[in-house]
Amino acid sequence: MKYVYSFGDGKADGKTDMKNLLGGKGANLAEMNHLGIPVPPGFTLTTDVCTHYYNHNLIFPEELETQVVEALKNIETIMDSGFGDTENPLLVSVRSGARQSMPGMMETVLNVGLTTTTIPGLIEKTGNSRFVYDAYRRLIMMYADVVMEKATGIKLADGQGIRQKMERIIDTFKKENRLKDDTDLSAEQWKEISESFKVEIKNNLGSEFPDDPRDQLWGGIKAVFQSWNGNRAISYRRIENIPDEWGTAVNVQAMVFGNMGKNSATGVAFTRNPATGENHFYGEWLPNAQGEDVVAGLRTPNPLNEDTKTVDTQSLSSLESSMSALYSQLIEIRTNLEAHYRDMQDIEFTIQDGRLWMLQTRVGKRNGAAAIKMAVDMFNEGLIDKKTALLRVKPEQLDELLHPVMDTESEQNATILATGLPAGPGSATGRLVFTADDAEAWHGRGEQVILLREETSPEDVHGMHVAEAILTAKGGMTSHAALVARGWGKCCIVGCSDLHINLEQKEVQIGETVLKEGDWISMNGTTGKIYGGQLKLIPANPETHNEYKHLMAWADDARKLKIRTNAETPADAKQAIQFGAEGIGLCRTEHMFFDDTRIMAMRKMILAENPKERRSAVMELLPYQKNDFKGIFKAMKGFPVTIRLLDPPLHEFMTLTEPQVHDLANHVNLDKSEVEKRIANLHELNPMLGHRGCRLGIVYPEITEMQARAILEAATELTAEGVAVLPEIMIPLVGTATEFIHQETIVRDVAKKVMKEKGITLDYLVGTMIELPRACLTADEIAEKAEFFSFGTNDLTQTTYGFSRDDIGSFLPSYLDNKILSQDPFQSLDVKGVGKLLSMAVESGRKVNSNLKIGICGEHGGDPASIHFCKHNGLDYVSCSPFRVPIARLAAAQAELQIKASKV
Ligand code: ADP
Ligand code: MG
Ligand code: MG
Repeated sequence: MKYVYSFGDGKADGKTDMKNLLGGKGANLAEMNHLGIPVPPGFTLTTDVCTHYYNHNLIFPEELETQVVEALKNIETIMDSGFGDTENPLLVSVRSGARQSMPGMMETVLNVGLTTTTIPGLIEKTGNSRFVYDAYRRLIMMYADVVMEKATGIKLADGQGIRQKMERIIDTFKKENRLKDDTDLSAEQWKEISESFKVEIKNNLGSEFPDDPRDQLWGGIKAVFQSWNGNRAISYRRIENIPDEWGTAVNVQAMVFGNMGKNSATGVAFTRNPATGENHFYGEWLPNAQGEDVVAGLRTPNPLNEDTKTVDTQSLSSLESSMSALYSQLIEIRTNLEAHYRDMQDIEFTIQDGRLWMLQTRVGKRNGAAAIKMAVDMFNEGLIDKKTALLRVKPEQLDELLHPVMDTESEQNATILATGLPAGPGSATGRLVFTADDAEAWHGRGEQVILLREETSPEDVHGMHVAEAILTAKGGMTSHAALVARGWGKCCIVGCSDLHINLEQKEVQIGETVLKEGDWISMNGTTGKIYGGQLKLIPANPETHNEYKHLMAWADDARKLKIRTNAETPADAKQAIQFGAEGIGLCRTEHMFFDDTRIMAMRKMILAENPKERRSAVMELLPYQKNDFKGIFKAMKGFPVTIRLLDPPLHEFMTLTEPQVHDLANHVNLDKSEVEKRIANLHELNPMLGHRGCRLGIVYPEITEMQARAILEAATELTAEGVAVLPEIMIPLVGTATEFIHQETIVRDVAKKVMKEKGITLDYLVGTMIELPRACLTADEIAEKAEFFSFGTNDLTQTTYGFSRDDIGSFLPSYLDNKILSQDPFQSLDVKGVGKLLSMAVESGRKVNSNLKIGICGEHGGDPASIHFCKHNGLDYVSCSPFRVPIARLAAAQAELQIKASKV
């Protein structure tokens, strides 16, 4: 079995489409060799090794060692040096690389192969002892942290980790010797520090830092595989839905050094701007530095070229001006990579002594606006076809364009506290928190928070995830915070050096101002400006974004599935129409009863003891309902509107305070004690399965009559005014055909009467919400009468699993942790169970009634995976909240394209 794939010198065993086996990094390092791009030679240990390692009690496959030795020889030949050779030593890096990039979640060890016996050789070879001892102390730091502490599962208290201890040793040393920057330390001084490191390691971790290159190599390899199951990697996989079984590959690669002096440098770049999508080369670099320095955000990096300089970076020198020949070579590589991958690439490069080396290329993360612009631009440039352009943008990414921006006026009137680099789009406002754990805690209490950190690290991802926005004092546009925020489309500002954080006090000093935990701040992620207080945000208007309009027009052409919205007010309906909705799939009527006057009439109706009283109370509600429906019909401009009759258990209207009971008693002319008695009678042990849905209309037909009349009077009156209307009346929670027939008869009788009274005939439909397993099982019977089905997948999930949606919080986390469930079935449709019921109902319903209109109106209507499922099952439409309509439009187009492609 081949476990090791070599690359180097323009040749490689692997190629780009072997990501599953070689991981993204390994596959692309191989591919760059095929493209004639200079890459330091190396080899990749496959993800199979990782799987084997975890399936066999952390033991490697037997063949591995000889394959590694072989591959190492190949590097030695190309580099003309020897691993462990005392005169001409080869150093390597050991790098992680999963199928899908997990930035910073796993480990990398650099400078492997430096030992007390190889150090003199390297000094001789480079003539630079300072460089060698600097590399050595970096190796010790990384190795101790990654291999000796993290990989062995040693858990030291917060702040007591070996890396922090070593950092403190450096700090103390610098203070004692009055040195400011790391660059001020001499070879001798780094040597001295390295010796203290070794003592510290022995004292804290109980073992010696290995002085044998082979021990270092295998230690590094093991540690990287081990890091696949580190806490950070696990929580990142949870958030990103990456399967645990995938495993990581490990890359061992000859070291090149960007810190060998003035002719050396390192950098990170994107072939296009990942924040805006603009077609210019965009990146950051540092002279005389190692790659990790740029990513870690410890030094503020320089801009790559003149074009992309900002006011803040104006004075820094660009690579373009400092090393113009190498910059030109890099531009050529940029063109080469984009032409080959036909997508924006995120690259790492290092210049060693005037020679350029590429260390990584991968499809670059981008925010939503940039993703859309790049997709449309690349189509226009002839780089990709329309279908690829449509599939390029993740539906969720549209979300950002739909996110609020800052109200210009309130922004103009606010004082700018500070300005940083605009790393993530949109605007946000929230209360300051200083740690990821606090972010989580505050968020858990329902607060919206902004997470402020010196810089973020992968340990912070849980807090970053729940925060409205992320703000850092250090780091550049390619720092961890920027990368992660961009991936999630989150508002983010980095490198705001005016922020002086006091973590102990949980406060930050910005000029004269001091802000404490819990204080409100506002951020404009598009300009990088930070304000105190809670500024006004205004909803986004994606229609002003040109490329968005193009892309959405393509999506609408490509899809047949209709997108409707869930809305119960004219304002929501208008918003949804603006976002492209083609109807209302669910208009709940119960929310219409909550204002002061209506609720009184409603309560009176509920308290009524006989049909006559009830009818008179319910009829008080008629004019209000009619008005509501008119507003909604008008807003929907002739698109179909599905109105659901009253659904919730009545006691939801009857949670009253003492004085409210008193008022109500007066209003209905009853004794207070009598009112209390009747309210008590409404109590149900299990209201979710109690007197609700069509059961209300069956026991109290007056309610159905009133609602049907309100809908049809509104519709006929508007028709008379020349407004097009298309009402669809939906009976909720039907489990038997007889229930449906009972309610349908009432509706149709009312309709006949109203049309006669108004002298107008009108098309309308009567259908049902399918949300009980029994309705799915008897869909054929129901479809004999019903004109449409709308799957209420919230209740259907609830009743299929027998999970109460409101109580799932107490056990869902354990279910996810223990992999009993792979995801929350209320968020993404359970295809196996609920989906099976749905398919059955579609099939048997359509058998009886081929014209049956079918849609879905649960939370799932806006979930791309669920939309795919709906398309696959031949539904006519999905319905979701207004803000998810654009997402659903794109997801529906993608589903159409993918399903078509799978059929060829
Ligand atoms: P990540 O996946 O977290 O980016 P990498 O494996 O890319 O981790 O490595 C971290 C840093 O070390 C990067 O800046 C990278 O460029 C640098 N690096 C890795 N291997 C080498 C090498 N062989 N020579 C020089 N720098 C390297
Ligand atoms: Mg990298
Ligand atoms: Mg329901």
